[in-house]
Order: sequence, then C-alpha cells, then structure tokens
Amino acid sequence: DTQDITVLIPVKLHPHAQERINGSFKVLTCERPDASLLTEEERAQVRALAVSTVASYPIDAAYIDAFPNLEIISSFGVGYNHVDAVHAGKKGVVVTNTPDVLTEEVADTALGLLLNTVRELPKAEAWLREGKWKSVGDYPLTRGTLRGRKVGIFGLGRIGQAIARRLEAFGLPISYYNRRPVEGVNYTYYPSLVELAAAVDTLVSIAPGGASTDKAVNAEVLAALGSDGVFVNIGRGSTVDEQALAKALEEGTIMAAGLDVFADEPNVPESLLKLENASLLPHVGSGTIHTRQAMADLVADNLLAWFGKGSAITPTPETEHLNPKG
Ligand code: NDP
Repeated sequence: DTQDITVLIPVKLHPHAQERINGSFKVLTCERPDASLLTEEERAQVRALAVSTVASYPIDAAYIDAFPNLEIISSFGVGYNHVDAVHAGKKGVVVTNTPDVLTEEVADTALGLLLNTVRELPKAEAWLREGKWKSVGDYPLTRGTLRGRKVGIFGLGRIGQAIARRLEAFGLPISYYNRRPVEGVNYTYYPSLVELAAAVDTLVSIAPGGASTDKAVNAEVLAALGSDGVFVNIGRGSTVDEQALAKALEEGTIMAAGLDVFADEPNVPESLLKLENASLLPHVGSGTIHTRQAMADLVADNLLAWFGKGSAITPTPETEHLNPKG
C-alpha cells in the first residue's frame, strides 16, 4: 500500500500527474522548491519528490540534502538539467525523467520549425492575414529552401534519430555530432561540433542542457555553418551563445534561425525578437494535450513502480545503478 508514503510536489505540476499522485500517495505541496518552506518534521516524512522545471529554482544538492528519507525524484520532461542527478546518484536517490513518450511529438515540432524558418511560413501567413495578398500581390519567393541542403544534428539521441528519420524522407543527407558515434546508423559522424557545422549548411540542435553543452553553439560554430546557414534549436537554450547568434543573424554570417528554446525562459532577448530572420516559438516542442498526458502518466507511474515493485521505469543514466531491474 502506497497511501502512507509522502510525496512532495514543490512546483506547479501537470494536473493529471498531480491527480494521479493524489490518488495513490499522501501528498505535500509547496509553491516552490525552497526547503525553508517546510518544517524539519515535514521534510523527514518526504520519500519522493515530483517535479518539473521551474526557472531559477533548481532541485540542487542542498535541496536534495534537505530530505533525509528521500528515495526518488520523479521529474516531468525528458530534459532534467534542473535536477542535480549526479548528486542524487551519490546520495542513493533515484532520478526519473519522461523519455520516449514525447520523442515523435518533439521531432514533428522540429520539422515544423525548420520549415517555418527556411520557407518563412509564419511570415507568409501574416502577409495573407494583413490583406497584402490582395493589395500587394504574391508573397515574395523565398531565398530559403530545403532543396540541396545538408543537415547536421547536434545530439543524435532518441529525438535526434526521430528527426533524422523524417529528414531522410525529405531526401536530405544527414550527419551528426555526439560525444560518441551511435552504433547502427548510416549517418556521417563528426567528432566536433565545429567540424559538423563546416560540413553542413543546416544545423539542428536537440542536445541536452547542462555544463557539458553550455554555449556549445558559439560564434565559431555559426561562422563554420556559413552564409546560407540555418540553425534550429529545439534542445535547450543554454547550449547556444544567444548574443553570438543574434550577431550572426544580424550580420548575415548565417541566413536564418528557428528557436523553440531560450537561455532564460520565458525571457527572449530583444536582440532576437527584433530580427526578421529568426522564427521563434515559446517552448512548444512536446506541447500537445496527448503527449503531455503521457508524460504526466509516466511521472506517476515511476513513483508507483518504485514504491510498488521496487524498481522505477525510466531512471536517468546517473542513477540507473540504484535501480534494480524491474
Ligand atoms: P537522449 O539522451 O536520447 O539524447 C541526447 C543526445 O545528445 C545523445 O545522443 C548524446 O550523445 C548527445 N549529447 C549529450 N551530451 C552531449 C555533449 N556534451 N556533447 C555532444 N553531444 C551530447 O535525449 P532525447 O533525445 O530524449 O532528448 C534530448 C534533449 O531534448 C533533452 O535533454 C531536452 O533538453 C530536449 N527536449 C526539448 C523539448 C522541447 O520542448 N523543446 C522537448 C523534449 C526534449 P553522447 O552521450 O554520445 O554525447
């Protein structure tokens, strides 16, 4: 029986996840992950956290250490750079995320954003809505096209491979950069991001956030992409030097960019907002009712599996060693 187990929800969580956790556990809620909002007694009761990204409130080492009986942190989303999973792993706390259930949705969005960026579809729609089709005439032919492009993927993981499968159907050659080559794929591997950028004219980033990718897409990478270059980011905003990107777009170092993610969401730099050759989305990669529901279920199911069967469903690599095989 899990009804006596206390789960702390220290953030605004997806309502379906919240509801399912409420139905199976004793729930403590809190408006933000700040340990001082709870008594020592409350903190001692907590055996699990259910969290999602809250800008400026990471689930850091100090927060994890505030719960002496913590066993598991179930995080909403596949990206979990807001949780210090390495520290959790050392403390014996399992961290879970929500991989796979969002892969195809995010890949769909990536292709939409790429087409919007290259073919200026949002601007063409605005042209129609503003009455210019009637008053001025046809929307100008676009310089951008996917025809003849070569695509490089930064982060050929689950979602990167789903994007690559779609691009194959578009007839485009694909190469990629990861820290390690992926076995069993036919795409060309480059051992550095700058070498990948130099070999292609279209760079799609679906790499995770965190220290190892911080500002990896910098002025040098953008220059290597070249003046017909298109950059699409659907991974994390922190992987890009946004100032360098705005400069590259303004000066024509690259042709255009499509961005779903930003370094300091929901704040989008003015330098990007004012650019005509940037197509911007408010982090909607997985944002459908269908997919968010599946993610919410996995947040609850990880907790139920851990406390019911002693094994979580989707532990992160940093904490996999703590999770007995289910
Ligand atoms: P995976 O873990 O399956 O893939 C991540 C890939 O990135 C791996 O191929 C990995 O290869 C590579 N990678 C990781 N670190 C580095 C590094 N330092 N340098 C180079 N390559 C690196 O994750 P998913 O495909 O499931 O998700 C990827 C990311 O997409 C998430 O972490 C999240 O941040 C983002 N995302 C964004 C969404 C949105 O709404 N915009 C929605 C969902 C996810 P290797 O380990 O060999 O380096």
